[in-house]
Amino acid sequence: MNLKPEEISAIIKEQIKNYENKVELTDTGSVLKVGDGIASVYGLEKAMAGELLEFPGKVYGMALNLEEEMVGAVMLGDDSGIKEGDIVKRTGNIVQVPVGDEMIGRVVNSLGQPVDGKGPINATKFRPVESEATGIMARKSVHEPLQTGIKAIDAMIPIGKGQRELVIGDRQTGKTSICVDTILNQKGKDVICIYVAIGQKRSTVSQVVSTLEKGGAMDYTIVVSATASESAPLQFLAPYAGVAMGEEFMFNGKHVLIVYDDLTKHAVAYREMSLLLKRPPGREAYPGDVFYLHSRLLERAAKLSDELGAGSITALPIIETQGGDVSAYIPTNVISITDGQIYLVPELFYSGIRPAVDPGISVSRVGGSAQIKSMKKVAGPLKLLYSQYKELAAFSQFGSDLDEDTKKRLAQGERIVEVLKQGEHQPMEVSNQVVMVFAVTNNLLADIPVNNIKRFEAELLEFIDANYPQIGEKILANEDFAQELTNAINDFKKKFVIEA
Ligand code: ATP
Ligand code: MG
Repeated sequence: MNLKPEEISAIIKEQIKNYENKVELTDTGSVLKVGDGIASVYGLEKAMAGELLEFPGKVYGMALNLEEEMVGAVMLGDDSGIKEGDIVKRTGNIVQVPVGDEMIGRVVNSLGQPVDGKGPINATKFRPVESEATGIMARKSVHEPLQTGIKAIDAMIPIGKGQRELVIGDRQTGKTSICVDTILNQKGKDVICIYVAIGQKRSTVSQVVSTLEKGGAMDYTIVVSATASESAPLQFLAPYAGVAMGEEFMFNGKHVLIVYDDLTKHAVAYREMSLLLKRPPGREAYPGDVFYLHSRLLERAAKLSDELGAGSITALPIIETQGGDVSAYIPTNVISITDGQIYLVPELFYSGIRPAVDPGISVSRVGGSAQIKSMKKVAGPLKLLYSQYKELAAFSQFGSDLDEDTKKRLAQGERIVEVLKQGEHQPMEVSNQVVMVFAVTNNLLADIPVNNIKRFEAELLEFIDANYPQIGEKILANEDFAQELTNAINDFKKKFVIEA
């Protein structure tokens, strides 16, 4: 080789001039360490929290720990092909998911990608998974009922559109069933439903999907699924992805119901992710911001003001307790964030009282303003009668000679319990609920043996539907129906055959 000295110095000069540019670390970085779904990336000085990062081979990650010289990122895809020294690029976008009507009827992962084998989703709109909750001035107080179709809830613990009602109980107490039944009950009610499955078994999720399909509910439902076999970051993202999809509908004036099944597993996934990111552990080894994890999620449920189109997101988060302990860290956090709780109790569940809702300790802080007037009127005395019965029943276990009044009240209580029992996937229209609550609170079922009540209920509702259709209309129109309904029930009783 024959190089002139001037040429050499020119090359060196050029290299020195470009030296600064070459180590441009604001928008790119290189992988220092990768494993367990976590990557440490040197550089990326300008990365934003929650920003989507591109790794080689179109694998994506999300920037979470922003440190001076490096960024801790969680991998959103398969990290097995990523190695030390790989180049990482900023995308400039916060992680976002596809939103809009195209999502309805689909089962997707936390990134909004289809996992139901029904082909690609051609969504044209996207929303960031993290976004600030609607402010106070943009909201209106909760005032429209969100009917669950479950008598015990609609009558005693009514939920309103825009509310956050926690469903809490031990494992296998019917938590999922209550929420799935509520979705089934939205059929024809112009409510879009989103079921977010976090950390569950695949088979459990597919069971829920098939129940929704059978009930015709997939026509208005999106399922976001991050099963136990998916990485902690994807489980962490799932509820935010779900609510982002919900927000698109809410800001277009629609009503949305979102179920988070469940936030206990969500917190566990977040803890795993945080420990891998080397964030300092706090109580029960959860990171210090685990409260914020759920508060910023649940704050995104809202009832918008009329100026903003009056849309809403109603949230039903689920929490699983251990041995009924509601004072553990995550349960107390979520209890304090929500507007009420539905407690499910194993003792009730196993004694056949299903749904196993305990009305004594369950509350809805929105209350009667989320009920139609007819329901409000008949349900008023129900909770009181029920709790008086519970007290009496505990007492009278020991006494044998009870006075007439006590006997009467016990008999009524037993019938209330029976009326509130409800099979799975059998949501009931509010007008029919009102009929039954009216019948039992007015002691019109006193002469029907307890073991005949369920059959009486089914046949009575059919009878009224066929012979007194105007009663249902009056109930829905909040007109006076008491006398007419009493007559109808007495009329039916003449026909009803009591079986031993
Ligand atoms: P897990 O803790 O496993 O998530 P879970 O609390 O979500 O359980 P579900 O899966 O909803 O409980 O219900 C548990 C079982 O009880 C299921 O087999 C379900 O079919 C049954 N079940 C739930 N609700 C009722 C009901 N109202 N009537 C009869 N059976 C019910
Ligand atoms: Mg469940």
